[in-house]
Amino acid sequence: MTEQDSIGVDRRHVLGLGAAAGATAVLGGVLTTGEPAQAGGPGPLCAPAGLKGRALLPGRPGYDAAVAGFNLVQTPAPGLVIAAENARDVQLAVRLAAQRRAPIAVLATGHQPSVPIGRDAILVSTKNMREVTVDARRRTARVEAGALWTHVLDRSLPQGLTGLNGSTPTVGVVGYTLGGGLSPTLGRRYGYAADHVRSIDLVTADGRLRTVTGANDPELFFGVRGGKSNFGLVTGIEFDLFPVSTFYGGAIIFDGKDAQRLLHAYRRWVRTVPEAMSSSVALMNIPDDPSSPPPLRGKAIVSLRICWTGRQDTGEALVRPLRAIATPLLDMVTQQPYSAFPAIHSDPAGPVPAYERTALLSELTGDAVEALVAAAGPGAPYPITMVEVRHLGGALARQPRHASAVAHRDAGFTLFGAGVTGPAEVPALRAALDRVVRLMRPWSTGGSYLNFMSVDEASTRAVSHAYPDHVYRRLRRLKRRVDPYNLFRLNHNIPPA
Ligand SMILES: Cc1cc2nc3c(=O)[nH]c(=O)nc-3n(C[C@H](O)[C@H](O)[C@H](O)COP(=O)(O)OP(=O)(O)OC[C@H]3O[C@@H](n4cnc5c(N)ncnc54)[C@H](O)[C@@H]3O)c2cc1C
Repeated sequence: MTEQDSIGVDRRHVLGLGAAAGATAVLGGVLTTGEPAQAGGPGPLCAPAGLKGRALLPGRPGYDAAVAGFNLVQTPAPGLVIAAENARDVQLAVRLAAQRRAPIAVLATGHQPSVPIGRDAILVSTKNMREVTVDARRRTARVEAGALWTHVLDRSLPQGLTGLNGSTPTVGVVGYTLGGGLSPTLGRRYGYAADHVRSIDLVTADGRLRTVTGANDPELFFGVRGGKSNFGLVTGIEFDLFPVSTFYGGAIIFDGKDAQRLLHAYRRWVRTVPEAMSSSVALMNIPDDPSSPPPLRGKAIVSLRICWTGRQDTGEALVRPLRAIATPLLDMVTQQPYSAFPAIHSDPAGPVPAYERTALLSELTGDAVEALVAAAGPGAPYPITMVEVRHLGGALARQPRHASAVAHRDAGFTLFGAGVTGPAEVPALRAALDRVVRLMRPWSTGGSYLNFMSVDEASTRAVSHAYPDHVYRRLRRLKRRVDPYNLFRLNHNIPPA
């Protein structure tokens, strides 16, 4: 039997790189340890000795599940997946990548694909690292790299505590937090999730597992919070929780024909609201599909999203003027347990092919509202699934005690467009998303929010817009210090200086 017959892949072309010392052979597409590496010449990419998790090859059992993610626009196709069970596995994967100078990427949920991940790469899957510990007395949570927000909330909410989650609980805590972590429920009150990280366990390109804090390595602590996977692979983080167990909020859905009136009222209203009021408005096109809720099916709508964490009667009084703008199709704003927050946005559960664009807006003027409605309202040339403006400011505008790379804190709003469509419609959808950003350019700060940047916004140049020049230069110097060969480049990349 030839080598190819016995293992189903040609070992010599797994990564086309030399065999690693102390490594092993390929068996049934799953790499196992304990056998000698192929002698001489280019060898297989081998499972590191001591791996507790699995090492998976393309086409073999377990591989497809390991690389699968939320956004189908781009699925990773690495030469090897390390399905890590613990921090030591992540360390072994990084050391293997460093030894071979193979790029290494990380996947938790696949909510934010960036650059393509091909056969020359190693991918660490953190899907089996989901442990969460809540310390109610200290009001902290410690999570492993693959934990989702739903896992945190399952443990914290029964104790009257929550973290600064995003719009959906299916997003990974670590990826979300390292990109900033803009909570549409609690962000304006408490700031970015990254602002409340206490410590980060991180494997850097030299294979070291470090616990990084603002005290022991302020520069690395600065960069990782806002720089995502550019400085290493995180194996766990500890962060603050907040005593919130209810909110007054939800979504009020208006007919698309009321978009202009509502948005004009909204832009005036946001100037007046306290920090405990987080909100956004989304122009949406609901598919004409049996799975859509009957009153909304096939309609252009406007969704006003509200989360108020003060007294209920104050929240009611604050929302009243917006409620009075028009007769809503649905009004779901009410006092609710915090666990009901996912219904505010009703994000898709996935997997979906989602194309996205983003920008930061300095302000929402009358002209900006007109442009937004022209670009994404009911009369727009293409029915984009959703275009949202989310109100920033409040605590989001302030740097925390230990400053982070989460930048552009003076922006007034995020602009985020997303469309879900089949292959034939992709060019039209992309053109429509580009048009939204182009029409809104007069109010754009020129910056971007990293967590909202898509595969179409993953060039080095586009990523640099997530930071002011002086922060970007600082991050590139940090990158030179901790990852001079840019091992961690399969991401929204910041190249070394
Ligand atoms: C439906 C939806 C709703 C969202 N809502 C919000 C929101 O309200 N607010 C907000 O701020 N963002 C939001 N996001 C964006 C989200 O925060 C990013 O997509 C985030 O990167 C998701 O992280 P993940 O680990 O789940 O995804 P993945 O695609 O698995 O990872 C994305 C990237 O995160 C980094 N990363 C993940 N794990 C690690 C690790 N262990 N170590 C180092 N880096 C790591 C890597 O750079 C990786 O490429 C939303 C996204 C979607 C699709």
